[in-house]
Amino acid sequence: MAQVESKNRATSDPDARKKVLKEIKERGIEDVLLWFTDVEGHLKSFSITTSEVEGALDDGMGFDGSSVTGFNAIEESDMVAIPDPGTFRILPDGLTGRLICDVVTPDGQPFGGDPRHVLRLALERMKSMGFDTFNIGPEAEYFLFKDDKGTETLDEGGYFAQTTMDAATTIRRDTIRALEQMGIPVEYHHHEVGPSQHEIDIRFTNAADMADYMLTYRLIVKEVAKQHGYHATFMPKPLFGENGSGMHTHQSLFTDGRNSFYDADDKWHLSATGKAFIAGQLRHAREITAVFAQWVNSYKRLVPGYEAPVYVAWSQRNRSALIRIPLYKPGSENATRAELRCPDPACNPYLTFACLLHAGLEGIEKGYELPDPMETNLYHLTAEQRREQGIVSLPETLGEAIDELSRSELARKALGPHIFDRYVELKRKEWDEYRVQLTDWEMKKYLPVL
Ligand code: GLU
Ligand code: MG
Repeated sequence: MAQVESKNRATSDPDARKKVLKEIKERGIEDVLLWFTDVEGHLKSFSITTSEVEGALDDGMGFDGSSVTGFNAIEESDMVAIPDPGTFRILPDGLTGRLICDVVTPDGQPFGGDPRHVLRLALERMKSMGFDTFNIGPEAEYFLFKDDKGTETLDEGGYFAQTTMDAATTIRRDTIRALEQMGIPVEYHHHEVGPSQHEIDIRFTNAADMADYMLTYRLIVKEVAKQHGYHATFMPKPLFGENGSGMHTHQSLFTDGRNSFYDADDKWHLSATGKAFIAGQLRHAREITAVFAQWVNSYKRLVPGYEAPVYVAWSQRNRSALIRIPLYKPGSENATRAELRCPDPACNPYLTFACLLHAGLEGIEKGYELPDPMETNLYHLTAEQRREQGIVSLPETLGEAIDELSRSELARKALGPHIFDRYVELKRKEWDEYRVQLTDWEMKKYLPVL
């Protein structure tokens, strides 16, 4: 690990850098963690001593990218992590600082394999189209289990259950405290539908900050559970026959502090921009499903009957639709938004937000027409009725989703050539590994009778 001279810093506001150094000194910080993610969104972290921070902020820290999933092969593996001073936070132990990094090549160019860069490019496209902010409010659900070896639950509570002061309630309270200590404002939190299933909603903010927040959120949820001796998981469908864990994503575009999705005169209070954005996400949903639902297990969640979406349609009330437009409350123009219900909390938030934004912008740029809303429960329609109404489904497996992604021009544009190629290869491998497995289900079903 070495400090390197970089010619083209991704972040270089000298005042912000000075502020970090001052805070480290004043708060007696002993160690600083530098974070970034691989292409699947796994948190990567290395630690530097406080004496190294100034150099790291100025010139970045070199590291070997060859062992990071989706980065580079050995022969071109030198990478540089440049801490973004605006992301400096102190972990709940009070002694460790953390900074989120941009990854650049040794000659200072943004690295095409860095998911944070992919999101930045999507935001640039948005700005070139006249919008200044992509706001995101995610509802990331998770389960608490006794340990990571099985799925023994801590309670049998259901939706909004106010369980007595049991372990889960205490854990959730401690988690929220830790998140707020780290500067992440929480809006709602409650028990979810599944046993031992919980949801903490972070207050909406711009997509770049929100993707950073999601890394912190997932870590804090897991850490606090562990401190209590339990295991928290964002696995999309850990319990057969119960709801899975989703990450419903509320989205809107703002310009000069005004919500570009709002139109007072429209019957849904949706502007032409809002409609075209939603139309873009509907039209391209199948192509980018492999990004917001990236695991074999994600597709066990996206099945009928568990409040997860399956069909590509939009609605105001209907929770079986892919996109829901929450009902307008008078006076809350800024809250007009599209709630996309298909992502799960084990996605890479940078790539997910980037793909969602590109799909929506495509709709605006090309003037896509929004189809009529579907207010019936889509789970109850027969295949024939869906066909008649032109309603398509999301991919049913990771294999199908990767086939769609690999043919998608939009996904190639959104992810960039580096991540696009590696992602398709990586996820095909995961699918191939899975599809040759013999499951308990088929042994029990077939062995006695075939
Ligand atoms: N857990 C459900 C899902 O998989 C969502 C439940 C809800 O919050 O409405 O998306
Ligand atoms: Mg929920």
